[in-house]
Amino acid sequence: DRPSAVSVSACFDYALRLFQTRLRDAAVTVKRHWPEEEVWVHADPVRLEQVLVNLIGNALQAMADTPEPCLCLSIERDAGQVTIGVADNGPGIAKAHLAKVFEPFFTTKSRGSGLGLGLSISSRIIDDLGGRLVATNRDGGGALFSIVLPRDTQTT
Ligand code: ADP
Ligand code: MG
Repeated sequence: DRPSAVSVSACFDYALRLFQTRLRDAAVTVKRHWPEEEVWVHADPVRLEQVLVNLIGNALQAMADTPEPCLCLSIERDAGQVTIGVADNGPGIAKAHLAKVFEPFFTTKSRGSGLGLGLSISSRIIDDLGGRLVATNRDGGGALFSIVLPRDTQTT
């Protein structure tokens, strides 16, 4: 199946709808930072949505004990690439774990709440699109996952 042009904000909207109830129950503030005009990328929308769902699910789990949980979603584009960000204000990723989080079965979660496969699968999906998935810690605390994809130049 050839990847088609997909709207990144539409994929975010889809993922956010899935988490609607959890976001509301946990009183999570959702911030959206993206341009008014649509940003398109070459991808299978189902797979891109799967990655966003994984990243948002991780962010929500990470913020379980955060007093004012805030999910910060972003889409940025420049001439050559699109960067999609999912950030939280949870505890962030331990330095020793930063290089390991993409390994299959790496998890810090208790049995039953995490298999440790979400990020390895997500990273594989993004690699297959010619992009990369990057994990960092934010200056003010919390984790930031960035999906960097080549921009779909044919449709913009
Ligand atoms: P799982 O969620 O099943 O543990 P993942 O592959 O999705 O597996 O994530 C692997 C590990 O990466 C997590 O167990 C956690 O230690 C770390 N991690 C992922 N996302 C975050 C986040 N937003 N904040 C802190 N740590 C994270
Ligand atoms: Mg996960």
